[in-house]
Amino acid sequence: MIVTRFAPSPTGYLHIGGLRTALYSYLWAKKNGGKFLLRIEDTDLKRNSLEATKAIEEAFKWVGLKQDGKIYYQSKRMDIYKEHIQKLLDEKKAYYCYMSKDELDTLRAEQMKAKQRPRYDGRYRDFKGTPPSGIEPVVRIKTPINETITFSDGIKGKISVKTDEVMDDFIIARSDGTPTYNFVVAIDDHYMGITDIIRGDDHLSNTPKQIVVYKAFGWDLPKFYHVPMILNPQGKKLSKRDGAMDVMEYKKEGYLPEVLLNFLVRLGWSHGDQEIFTLDEMLELFDPKDINKSASAYNAQKLLWLNSEYIKNMSYERFEKELIDFDLDLKSIEKKEILIDALRERAKTLKEFSSKAKAILQRPTSYEEKAVKKFLKAGAKEVAKEFKSYLNSYKEDLDIPFEYEKLINGFLKQHNLKLKDIAQIIRIAIVGSAVSPSIYDIMSIIGKDELKIRIDNLIQFMEERDEQK
Ligand code: GLU
Repeated sequence: MIVTRFAPSPTGYLHIGGLRTALYSYLWAKKNGGKFLLRIEDTDLKRNSLEATKAIEEAFKWVGLKQDGKIYYQSKRMDIYKEHIQKLLDEKKAYYCYMSKDELDTLRAEQMKAKQRPRYDGRYRDFKGTPPSGIEPVVRIKTPINETITFSDGIKGKISVKTDEVMDDFIIARSDGTPTYNFVVAIDDHYMGITDIIRGDDHLSNTPKQIVVYKAFGWDLPKFYHVPMILNPQGKKLSKRDGAMDVMEYKKEGYLPEVLLNFLVRLGWSHGDQEIFTLDEMLELFDPKDINKSASAYNAQKLLWLNSEYIKNMSYERFEKELIDFDLDLKSIEKKEILIDALRERAKTLKEFSSKAKAILQRPTSYEEKAVKKFLKAGAKEVAKEFKSYLNSYKEDLDIPFEYEKLINGFLKQHNLKLKDIAQIIRIAIVGSAVSPSIYDIMSIIGKDELKIRIDNLIQFMEERDEQK
């Protein structure tokens, strides 16, 4: 059975790079009927916060990636780590090192001077004497000397490193007894039964160290997949400005969770030139061996495009549900389906949808200056007044957009006018600007009574304006 995990450190929010490796791990486990586990790497109590842990869990919930079983917290597993440190000490695979900080600094300085790579020289590796007093020792693991560590990375291919070149007897427990990062990761991945580790390639250099730990305990290695980073369009590290923001910011900006997943699955993986993937399709098609070997570039326009594609096809019920978070309650809106259909092609995000919908549903409190100048010239007030009286005496049904179209056609005919003579006046009256969906749609959405009020308000505005002249 394939078991994967996502192992964020709660030092801040969950960012999209993290979510992408989580998604890959999720897909790979689930497509194989395996398990996807979540482990919070919260041992660094100075840098971790409960809030950040909560934020990660919240983001997970929003995108709908559910872990199997309970969440693991490293902070609750200290006993396991300590027990394993002791085990290595007992088996002489690890040892206490009494080197003081001064000694370490001196050694470093000498190595730098000799143009050598700074590394611990193993002076306590086989120490048999009496330990110096007054020093709380650290515990170091015995890294095999002069050995080549080889593993096959599912994305990068075969990786070989010489132990002497990339590591020393690294610390597994600090002098206060707390275990170090690479040690606990290996312990956890083993006991959680992780078979496939998919993570960012910024962790590639940690892997040999973790393998040293696996080997010290005689455990089988998992399979590793190190995923290249997401870069900005200039090929630099992704910054907040480029989009490396909190996953929940995307929610606030009006992106759908499945869009974000769709966007992320394609950042670093592809299936022909297909762009739109449902979760089921991702599950069917995803394989980590197809992950790109080179870094991928974040493309904000594509994310926006994807979101608009999803919005175009979204159900009415879903709109109603999602828009509540954007301060728009469609429940009581009689013509909500007309409203949604009028805007779904015009709004790329839920946020944009909400603001465009409010512009229709709420009476304008002002009129856009540019539109007023351009479209409410001499004669507009008279046309608006004529329209008002035509509307007041109109006897036919006014409900669906088609009926408003009939109303307008009748009015134009009677007064020998063209559509352009009235369309922008109606737009400005209803939304306050000259940009809106079809006038028949927006009249139908607000209804006859509200239409009269808004026409009246605009007439009054023009009266006041003309008096001031
Ligand atoms: N906690 C690490 C991080 O947030 C991930 C460790 C791993 O995946 O092995 O970058």
